[in-house]
Amino acid sequence: MYDNNNIFAKIIRKEIPCDKIFEDDQVLFFNDINPKAKIHILAMPKTEVISFSDFINKSTPEEVDYFFKKIVEIVQKFNLDKTGYRLITNDGNDANQEVAHFHVHILGGENLSGLR
Ligand code: AMP
Repeated sequence: MYDNNNIFAKIIRKEIPCDKIFEDDQVLFFNDINPKAKIHILAMPKTEVISFSDFINKSTPEEVDYFFKKIVEIVQKFNLDKTGYRLITNDGNDANQEVAHFHVHILGGENLSGLR
């Protein structure tokens, strides 16, 4: 069950600040507080979904399409489409998902070979 006290839910409700990159009524993008690369952006839908599978199962095709196309827009805004980048989403215990609100890590701005 979705716990609306998770930190990203609080950021979406503006109870906690974030270093915002982009926001509209459906999605929020902000910089990771502990960046693992020169560019480390977190992308998330604002709906109450815990993980990738939860997002896919509970969202309309339009919502899924909108979210991933917005990721592409931000990737292009930072020119990462030219230099390369990595998308990661951690889902569940074995992936060590820390925050139980679905999010995608966008990593780039440097060569990522040192990143495990
Ligand atoms: P995950 O393991 O995929 O759930 O990743 C959670 C990510 O959220 C980690 O990379 C954290 O550094 C990041 N994080 C946690 N709290 C904050 C916060 N208040 N603002 C920005 N990023 C955060």
